[in-house]
This record gives sequence, structure tokens and C-alpha cells, in this order.
Amino acid sequence: MRLILLGPPGAGKGTQSQRLADKYRIAQLSTGDMLRAAISAKTPVGQRAKGIMARGDLVPDDVVVGIISDRMDEADARAGFVLDGFPRTLGQAQALDRLLAEKGLKLDGVIELKVDEDKLLQRIDSRLRDMTARGETARPDDNPDAFKVRLAAYREQTKPLIDYYRSKGKLRSVDGMAGIRDVSRAIDTVLDRERVDAGYADG
Ligand code: AMP
Repeated sequence: MRLILLGPPGAGKGTQSQRLADKYRIAQLSTGDMLRAAISAKTPVGQRAKGIMARGDLVPDDVVVGIISDRMDEADARAGFVLDGFPRTLGQAQALDRLLAEKGLKLDGVIELKVDEDKLLQRIDSRLRDMTARGETARPDDNPDAFKVRLAAYREQTKPLIDYYRSKGKLRSVDGMAGIRDVSRAIDTVLDRERVDAGYADG
């Protein structure tokens, strides 16, 4: 199973992709996590990405395409993967098509978490308050200023991917404003339908 989770920052991609990775025993490939790990390890990629990420802007396509390509070749990704936060631009989506073709892999579906973008700022605010209450440290880009830049990057550069995947017949949309369990159930329903249609449901 190879999936993409698509949606704006704060839509719940991380939560849902983690759950799908556990459920289908596939790898969760989060470019954001990979970049944060590169920053912690002070690698050249991390040094290039650090300031860009703190502002909320997108890291250049060649950087993320490089790390995702390498990561797909690792053993735990062979059984499948769920892409969380990649692709984020049309250039990345086209690069992904090329990568999959080169590796002889097929994309099973793209799940769009549909959310009310005006409510996302409130969501991020309450996420911040919860984290602070638990004594956790927020990400450097989880603040209202960077969040606005992240949302603008989504609207300008990532949103066109919805039409890109719709035109390929790959897009499945679910209501991302529902509670976590309802969103999970909606995703499962969509995927079960796909698996039956594809003829590889195992009951
Ligand atoms: P995320 O953890 O997915 O919210 O990503 C955090 C930040 O990492 C983003 O705001 C970008 O700066 C950077 N990033 C993550 N994935 C990508 C990507 N596919 N393309 C460009 N930048 C990315």
C-alpha cells in the first residue's frame, strides 16, 4: 500500500499517517520529521533547511526529493509507505511520479483531509496550549507568524496538487474537521473500498 496524505498544516496528517502506518505495517515517511532530524544532526541538509523551516517557508524541491528518494529505498519502506507532508509542490509531485516509475512502484491513492482553513489558526493555538500544559516544547514553526507563512505556502503551492491527483483519478477526500476517530473511520472506509475495487482486500 502506497499512499499520500494531503492537507494544510494542522489538518491532522501526522496523526492519521502514523495510524495508517501502524495499521498496514507500512512506513510513515514524513519529510518534516526527516528535515527536523537533519537539523538536530547538523547535516548540510539540516543547515540549509533550518532558517527556511523556522520561517514557515518550503525547503527547495531538490532537497526534499533527494531525501525522500533515499528513504523509499530503505528496508522498512519496501512493504509500502504513507507520505506525510510530501509532495508539497507540483514539481515534487512530478518528481515523485518519476521516482515511482523508476522504482517500479504504484501509488494506490491520495487522501485529502478537507478542513476549514480559517479554523486552522485556532487549532494550532489550542495545540500549542495543550503542549505547553504537558510541559512539551513547541516546534520553532508552531507559532502564529510561521503558521501564517505555512498556510500561505499551502494555498499557493500545495493546493494545486488536489486537482493534479483528481485528474489522475487518485484523489479521495474526507472531512478532516471531524474528531480524530471519525476522520480515521472515514479514511478506513475509503481505503477498504479501494482495496475491494483493486481486488486485494483480505477480508
Ligand atoms: P511538516 O512537519 O510537514 O509540517 O513540515 C515542517 C516544515 O518542513 C515545512 O513548513 C517546510 O518548511 C518543511 N517541509 C516539510 N516537507 C516539505 C516538503 N515536501 N517540501 C518543502 N518543505 C517541506
